[in-house]
Amino acid sequence: MNRLRAFLALAVVFAGCYTHPGATPAGGPAQTEGVRFEVPDWSGRWYKGNTHTHTTESDGDSSPEYVARWYKDHGYDFLVLSDHNVYTDPASLSHLADSTFLLIAGEELTSSYEGAPVHVNGLNIPHVLAAERASSLVETIQANVDAVRNVDGVPHINHPNFQWAFSVEELRQIENDRLLEIWNGHPTVHNAGGGGTPSLIEVWDMLLTGGKRIYGIAVDDAHHFQGEFTADRANPGRGWIAVRSRERTADALMEALEAGYFYASTGVSLDDVVVTANRLEIHIEPDRDFRYHTLFYGSGGRLLGESGANPATYELTRDVGYVRAEVTSSRSDRAWTQPVFVVGR
Ligand SMILES: [Zn+2]
Ligand SMILES: [Zn+2]
Repeated sequence: MNRLRAFLALAVVFAGCYTHPGATPAGGPAQTEGVRFEVPDWSGRWYKGNTHTHTTESDGDSSPEYVARWYKDHGYDFLVLSDHNVYTDPASLSHLADSTFLLIAGEELTSSYEGAPVHVNGLNIPHVLAAERASSLVETIQANVDAVRNVDGVPHINHPNFQWAFSVEELRQIENDRLLEIWNGHPTVHNAGGGGTPSLIEVWDMLLTGGKRIYGIAVDDAHHFQGEFTADRANPGRGWIAVRSRERTADALMEALEAGYFYASTGVSLDDVVVTANRLEIHIEPDRDFRYHTLFYGSGGRLLGESGANPATYELTRDVGYVRAEVTSSRSDRAWTQPVFVVGR
């Protein structure tokens, strides 16, 4: 494999040598034979949602009714109420559900191992689940993921850097998980890492580079709906996902989520993500006179390209493992698309 790669790299260099600047090499752009994107089989429209928020059923400051109404009134298509070890039956709030808004059952399974918090959300679960404890940090995370899987729910692993609980070493050992919080709106969860500890985005790239298929979600983890909205309070509206789904049902949304048919955002909306065999296009939804800068990353967290255009495009010409896009607005809001994997190596 390495010999083949070296040969192909040389071939590209030679193609460059024998082509004068500006000319297109015979047969189009230099392309490693057989390398292409795995094209997602998605359809439907985007549904905006938040999968992590709290109410007075645990340590939030507002009732489930108030919280659900807040999201509905702010244009969300779906919401998961995820209180600590408490289950709120969506049927109790069925008067809020209509053709524009869906409540999906959930819970934040809240456990710990030797003081390290282990919080795993269970989405689309049928009843309350007991948070699990086990004999190691990895086993404790795994036991909570398994508890959610056992009832056909969808797990997501929350805020690894909260109290610096765990990182890539533990996460790469977990099985049957597809979703990781790469951004959480709570003020003390250390999304950016620090003091030598990687950011959640770096952790994500490390897991992807190691071959783990894991998708990055952004969430509010909101607790504070009353009083002032400030950076030091856990207010709503900060982190969300938009899921491409055929319909607004819990099952369809969960299936799309676990397939990676979504993007995560702190404020940038996308009109479309187009994937062909050798091209990734990011179509950004314009907002007032904001401008956008898109970076494309691949295996090893390497920067592969950048664009100030809309759509922003990346042409696949070699084996880069995977490609994901990160869009930043002139207000510093972000959107992260899910990795598109390179196949045919
Ligand atoms: Zn938590
Ligand atoms: Zn939480």
